[in-house]
Amino acid sequence: MSTVVLDNVSKVYPGGYLAIDRMSLRAEKGELLVLLGPSGCGKSTILRMVAGLEEITSGDLWLNGELANDLLPRDRDVAMVFQNGALYPHRTVRGNMAFPLEIAKADPALVRERVTRLSKALRIDDTLERRPGTLSGGQRQRAAMGRAIVREPSLFLMDEPLSNLDAGMRTELRMEISSLVRSLGVTTIYVTHDQVEALSLADRIAIVNRGVLQDVGTPSQVYNDPATAFTAAFLSSQQLNLLAATVRTPRNEFVALDFGPHHIVIPWSDPRAYVISRYVGHQILVGLRPDCLAPVPETFEGPVFLGRVRALEYHGHEWLAHVESGIPSVDVPEPPDPRGRVNGAHGPAASHPRGLIASAVRRLFPREAPVFEAEEEQTGTHRRNDLIVRLGSRPVWRAGEPVRVGVDAARLMLFTPDGARVDPPSR
Ligand code: ADP
Repeated sequence: MSTVVLDNVSKVYPGGYLAIDRMSLRAEKGELLVLLGPSGCGKSTILRMVAGLEEITSGDLWLNGELANDLLPRDRDVAMVFQNGALYPHRTVRGNMAFPLEIAKADPALVRERVTRLSKALRIDDTLERRPGTLSGGQRQRAAMGRAIVREPSLFLMDEPLSNLDAGMRTELRMEISSLVRSLGVTTIYVTHDQVEALSLADRIAIVNRGVLQDVGTPSQVYNDPATAFTAAFLSSQQLNLLAATVRTPRNEFVALDFGPHHIVIPWSDPRAYVISRYVGHQILVGLRPDCLAPVPETFEGPVFLGRVRALEYHGHEWLAHVESGIPSVDVPEPPDPRGRVNGAHGPAASHPRGLIASAVRRLFPREAPVFEAEEEQTGTHRRNDLIVRLGSRPVWRAGEPVRVGVDAARLMLFTPDGARVDPPSR
């Protein structure tokens, strides 16, 4: 089982496109590490560099303690499964799964034993004598996975292996992949753009955007305590409410997050108060998931936003309310577009989210924050500045009604204007 270490790895494609920007990342022996991010963010590029299918432009790749930048793919002991796990059409499932062992001239008894065991684990033991053309999509993908893993490689790389399957099959196979790779103990790097898949499968998740690593941690760390605004937004199943607030410390009695028409008081007894107060007079970003907001009665003593329900939206298992509150929303800050970047020739270091040191500098020396403009863009039922509030299974509000939205202040997520955390995440 391999450890995989990327040390400051960059990838520039011909034409100067910086697909991966100085990425440092580690997968431990036997770990299931998920690479998560939107389409085009560079996940497959990372996987292909680890497999040796793509040259590394700068930085080092270490496989099991050995510098691997120049190792041939066949010398890396890596198996890979893609979206469309290709199978030999004229071989049966058994023939496909046995093939990698047969060309390695393995003992036929061992081949039989491995194929039988693995096909049972993958629940395709009843299809072993069938050809790929007669299988369902899910069965084909299981067979492809079986063929990749039958050699018992040190490292298993999976590139969106479930994305062509229907929802039910995805959930089923997801659970099986999880138990299979864990029972084999093989280090696995798994690429997906689906946050539910990542949260449910991973030991740890690495979130990537525009070729820049945003965060790495266990599913509950990156979900509950995200290092960047991008991570918070990408992992929200419903749209993240991201609001701009000016930090104030009136008469030094408490810290206030001033949203214009509303404010939230953070008492000095709150452990976050001192870190936030370093931004006094500046704007920070406040992230609130829809389930941190809830209808509250007049007697509620915590922070409240007053608003009016503009629309209610039914999602089957829950209702969401779109509430006009007069608080402008802001866009999630992103790294600069890679098309405008050339490797190693970025603007000033402080303008680039380069991890903890840079964000610590920003925390200590906050820059003048940009002014966020309140736009009213209409997209479907949602207006950009609506607060999204989760109501649960009953629509306790009516459209047009004035409402009190209670805020769970303990679950505020606080970010600098360029999306790094104000109060450091615990890792
Ligand atoms: P993801 O797997 O996250 O969807 P990729 O790693 O496939 O993203 O691609 C990252 C970026 O690099 C994309 O913008 C893609 O267009 C670009 N890219 C990928 N392969 C090449 C290539 N061979 N030449 C030039 N650009 C490429």
